[in-house]
Amino acid sequence: MEIINPATEEVIARIDTDSPMDVQQKIEKLRKGQKEWAKQAIADRLEIIQRFGQRVQDQIDDLAGILTSETGKPLQQAYNEIKGANNRIVHLMAHAEKALAPEYLVTAGATLEHIVYEPLGLIANISAWNYPYNVGYNVFLYALVAGNAVCYKPSEYASLTGLKFRDLLYESGLPENVFECFTGGPATGEELLKAPLNGYFFTGSYATGKYIAERVAEKLVPVQLELGGKDPLYVANDVANVQQAAINAAEGAFYNTGQSCCAVERIYVHGDIFDEFLKAFVTEVKGYKTGSPLENDTFIGPLTRRQQRDVILEQVQDALNKGAILETGGKALEGKGYFMEPTVLTRVDHSMRIMREESFGPVIGIQKVKDDEEALRLMQDTEYGLTAAIYSSSYERAELLMKEIDAGTVYWNCCDRVSPEVPWSGRKHSGLGSTLSTVGIRAFTQPKAYHKRQN
Ligand code: NAD
Repeated sequence: MEIINPATEEVIARIDTDSPMDVQQKIEKLRKGQKEWAKQAIADRLEIIQRFGQRVQDQIDDLAGILTSETGKPLQQAYNEIKGANNRIVHLMAHAEKALAPEYLVTAGATLEHIVYEPLGLIANISAWNYPYNVGYNVFLYALVAGNAVCYKPSEYASLTGLKFRDLLYESGLPENVFECFTGGPATGEELLKAPLNGYFFTGSYATGKYIAERVAEKLVPVQLELGGKDPLYVANDVANVQQAAINAAEGAFYNTGQSCCAVERIYVHGDIFDEFLKAFVTEVKGYKTGSPLENDTFIGPLTRRQQRDVILEQVQDALNKGAILETGGKALEGKGYFMEPTVLTRVDHSMRIMREESFGPVIGIQKVKDDEEALRLMQDTEYGLTAAIYSSSYERAELLMKEIDAGTVYWNCCDRVSPEVPWSGRKHSGLGSTLSTVGIRAFTQPKAYHKRQN
């Protein structure tokens, strides 16, 4: 498989992809290793993960370079991701032993009762490319700490990073028969779907996630899906600082070149402050430097996948055909690399694809609304349910909307953020199940109930 740098379109590496036979052999090896791994003390497992985290930070210059070369992520943002992902390890160190310990619930009387959280066994982690550290750690580190063995299939757009995870885990003392990297595209994923694994944890698009859930259904094993979104942000007319809200919203929409599952994908602004907000927003976006991801001040890099740029350009054209106004951007950049101008559209509505389909790139539609009621109705008018953000100086006002919104995460005066302390979950077409928090530690276990009668 050729690994292509999306900024230069050069082939930067060629790697072997796993054949069906390779997949089978790796699975057999992991199946054997898991039993021993599960017997190790949680503290010992955590120590290995902590060493892994340290190695990653020690080698951050190399790793950030690899991430940027295969995904086009601006280098500074690659550093941010790698540094930031370590908070998952800090979270595990603080909470895993308690979350995985047996719970003694009935401790007196004739029959005593307790729960043991056993690992699922051998699980698949089929992953995405946009934040390989964050979304990878959410699954494979948590699964390993809970005593599982992991078939890790990185995205074909982040294979070099995936192979590095394997090497660094082994160098950190992880037994080689509890984690394997399965390289390749959908065909490699298909081999994992055929295998009799004990759980499937997927991060990626709704279409692939739904397909995987259907394929796995007959196995009756846990399936978790972290999928896409069409995340709304609403700015109410009492917002404390319109300019600051515009700057935050723009960053939420365009960070990582808009390729974040929780990127702001559509914005609603109260009519009273619309003009002021739009002016500040467009000024901010025009200030973003688009170009080589290796340059320090670049904010917008290339798209990782060439075909997604075509999808976004079609969405923009569809909006323009239906009467939208192009405030800035709108075109692909000439020359090598999958670059596109950061694009802002107004006079948009929900008849347009740009306000309904996930764009996953540097484009945003901003719609004027007359009140909170209209904002809520439009925010709810989606098949997705990952995150939603409300900007208002009144928590009470924001909370009324946050309670109504059918999404796994709601934000007040912030957006596009993930914390390991709270569950990360999508509703409707955005997913099934949760990662992170103690909920996301126990997600990789199955409870066994003990009923103990003395005589
Ligand atoms: P994708 O669905 O194209 O691919 C995801 C993974 O599935 C890849 O590893 C791919 O090789 C594999 N795959 C594809 N077809 C398969 C098949 N038939 N059988 C088995 N495996 C198969 O998604 P992507 O482009 O890598 O990621 C982008 C999407 O991921 C966006 O929709 C984004 O919103 C979403 N995402 C969600 C979260 C979250 O936490 N909710 C995080 C990151 C990304």
